[in-house]
Amino acid sequence: MVKENCGVVGIFSLSGTNVVPMAIDALRALQHRGQEAWGIAIPNKEPLKRLGLVSGASSEFKKICEDYSSPSVIGHVRYSTMGRSTLENAQPLKVKDLCIAHNGTIANVQELSNLVGGCSFTPQNASDTLVAAQRLVSLISENGQMGKALAILKNEMVGSFCFTFISDDNSVYAARDPKGFRPMVLGYKASDDTYIVASESSAISAVGATLQRDVKPGELIKLSKNGLETEQFSNDISRAHCSFEFTYFAHPSSNMEGANIYISRKRIGQFLAKKFPIKDADLVIPVPDSARPAALGYAQELGITFDEGLLKDRYSKKGPLRSFIEPHQSDRIEINRWIIPIREIIEGKHVVVIDDSLVRGTSSKAIIQALRRAGAKKISMVITYPPIKFPCYAGIDFPSQEELATFSNGKDMTDEELTEMVRKDIGADFLGYNDAENLAAAVGIPKDSMCFTCSSGNYDSLGITPEFKTRIEMKGE
Ligand code: SF4
Repeated sequence: MVKENCGVVGIFSLSGTNVVPMAIDALRALQHRGQEAWGIAIPNKEPLKRLGLVSGASSEFKKICEDYSSPSVIGHVRYSTMGRSTLENAQPLKVKDLCIAHNGTIANVQELSNLVGGCSFTPQNASDTLVAAQRLVSLISENGQMGKALAILKNEMVGSFCFTFISDDNSVYAARDPKGFRPMVLGYKASDDTYIVASESSAISAVGATLQRDVKPGELIKLSKNGLETEQFSNDISRAHCSFEFTYFAHPSSNMEGANIYISRKRIGQFLAKKFPIKDADLVIPVPDSARPAALGYAQELGITFDEGLLKDRYSKKGPLRSFIEPHQSDRIEINRWIIPIREIIEGKHVVVIDDSLVRGTSSKAIIQALRRAGAKKISMVITYPPIKFPCYAGIDFPSQEELATFSNGKDMTDEELTEMVRKDIGADFLGYNDAENLAAAVGIPKDSMCFTCSSGNYDSLGITPEFKTRIEMKGE
């Protein structure tokens, strides 16, 4: 078994249109949420799954759309927070007459597995999604309804989830966890009388549908021949929207919780310019790609030249991919090798480099070395996300503390000391991190409605006091 995370989609057409082509387009628009594998499921058929990018199977699209022709479909792109990257672990998964796709992490999967027949969970042989699906199917058979089953399951599960399900009776369901850790939105395409739920509105736009609203935390949506039905399976009113979505994970075109991601990132840059006004800089450059709007906002606020001093080589095999969500360190290094500085822009300048986050420090170190080789006079690095110090158990891959750049090996350090340690390690002349207050204010969402656990170490929103595990224990590597 294995554990999964990522991007999900569910589509139902009331006009009977074959929506599998739409699912493929939607998954391509969610590709930034997972690069390891993808899949789709329709009623009464085994799910179709492929490793790699959706576009990697483009020669098969015509046949897939014919063979899997259906007015209802769910789909998934995978980025593993737990478990290995194999086809077997790709989603959707099928349990009896229900197929399931999951974005999130279930942190107490071992306990949950005890409720589904006492099977022993290890990341090498299990998936949190499969355990949750098995438990859900047994709760549905005991309680008769998906909503009642989810109301019980949410109390048994620790972690985050956005699920899409499809049943053999041709109904599509979508459910978002009670705190809203991971995003989920609802769209409608009038020309086909078709509903779509997806992790992000980038998928809704990609299929020509119109964004209706966010799926509410604790909401279950059912799409069937009866149209759209909705119910709350949780009345929890506290929220913990993942703040990392706003700086790194989400697509810049997406809208979530009333905020557009591109505009939010630009405002984060403007706010950072007030926090760290490096007025003697010659140039502001982004680390491609997620930091681009923040760098623009920072430069505009201070009236400093914005330029592209670093370019991703889109023609190399790994160059176009996102390094952070690659599961293996060797692949992350390979991607960073293809971020190339432009000497003519950099040479002799004091450069402010804006990056979206500093997780392991792998990218930052490589980029600073490359900028030095390109002749930068001075390098100041400003990070749009606060220092990441603790593992995430709600769907993002920061699996073990010793891998983080901020790891102090048990030494008690102030934030200033920690920043100085990281600055030296990555080789910058100056390092400045954003803080939670600044980030929340720039996005326009109350700070206490957002999750900052990976920075604060406060796991109250998950209701746990975690024992931190090694990467091998988490991922079975
Ligand atoms: S711990 Fe960090 S990455 Fe995980 S959900 Fe919270 S904010 Fe997002």
